[in-house]
Amino acid sequence: MTDAVDVVIVGAGAAGLSAAIVLGRCRRRVALIDAGNPRNRASQAVHCLLGHEGRAPSQLLAMGRLELERYPTVTQRSNLVTAIARSGNCFSVECENEVPFQVRKVLLTTGLTDDLPRVEGIDRLYGRSVHHCPYCDGFEHRDQAIAVYGEGDKGAGLALMMKQWSSDVMLFTDGLSPISSGMLARLDHQRIGVCTERIARLEGTADGMLKEIHLESGKAVARSAIFFTTGCHQSSNLSATLGCIRDEKGGIVTDPVTEESSVPGVYVAGDASRDVLLVSIAIAEGAKAGVAINQALLKEDGLA
Ligand SMILES: Cc1cc2nc3c(=O)[nH]c(=O)nc-3n(C[C@H](O)[C@H](O)[C@H](O)COP(=O)(O)OP(=O)(O)OC[C@H]3O[C@@H](n4cnc5c(N)ncnc54)[C@H](O)[C@@H]3O)c2cc1C
Repeated sequence: MTDAVDVVIVGAGAAGLSAAIVLGRCRRRVALIDAGNPRNRASQAVHCLLGHEGRAPSQLLAMGRLELERYPTVTQRSNLVTAIARSGNCFSVECENEVPFQVRKVLLTTGLTDDLPRVEGIDRLYGRSVHHCPYCDGFEHRDQAIAVYGEGDKGAGLALMMKQWSSDVMLFTDGLSPISSGMLARLDHQRIGVCTERIARLEGTADGMLKEIHLESGKAVARSAIFFTTGCHQSSNLSATLGCIRDEKGGIVTDPVTEESSVPGVYVAGDASRDVLLVSIAIAEGAKAGVAINQALLKEDGLA
């Protein structure tokens, strides 16, 4: 037996909250610690989520936190986890301005952070008419004048995809960027114009709807929405310091059944493992990790 907390869950987004509910129902002692920056905080509405279509992301998380209050073995704390290190059979966890504590298992649900295009005016529009994910927000901009922002064949690929939502799609590379001749031919065939000029700024309404893309030449192009593909990165470096292996996309490699990483006792769920990047998948992975962690603890305690 040990005084250690059973599980620390780092991050209380969709994945962390989902895992905490499973583990709370198993009466596990859980420390759920969250720095308060979920990836979709700029969004107005969650889509592709059965039973919650259009719900505000902040409301969805608040509902999850409330549901957790029913489980007395789960403690929810607002803080930043600054370090985790193996300590014998357990792990030692450090947070800002707190005494370090010991845990038996670690679940990282720390998420990803998007790399926004560096364009003046984007902050006011992001999450309302500037998006990265057509599955999340494409339907709301169907049949509108859509701009795609992205370099090379990656940008061209997203532009082709956006034809599913609108016949009026234009690709902006914001400076010269190499698009293969094959892709250029496909864009041409789909009547997708390509603008390689540098963008000066975006202009929109007070409520965040894009009106025009202003180019450095002084020309303005009327567009209603931008979908961009500029990538994202891990929100936390804890997995790297723990030694978790990452794949070529920067996702933390996990066992598809248990969500355990390459470091025994360290589990990862949600966007951080870079499977399909949706709230529903984060919830599912969190639940899978919760069950697998409980099973591992049962085994260690001679109960399975
Ligand atoms: C603008 C936008 C709109 C989106 N719209 C949709 C949509 O409509 N539908 C959909 O399904 N998906 C949508 N997504 C994707 C969705 O946001 C993610 O799939 C989902 O948030 C992943 O949940 P998560 O729990 O893995 O990570 P997150 O929600 O990012 O939560 C991670 C949490 O961990 C915390 N954290 C990180 N490091 C630490 C640390 N060291 N210590 C403590 N806490 C830490 C963060 O502060 C954060 O609160 C959207 C994303 C964006 C950017």
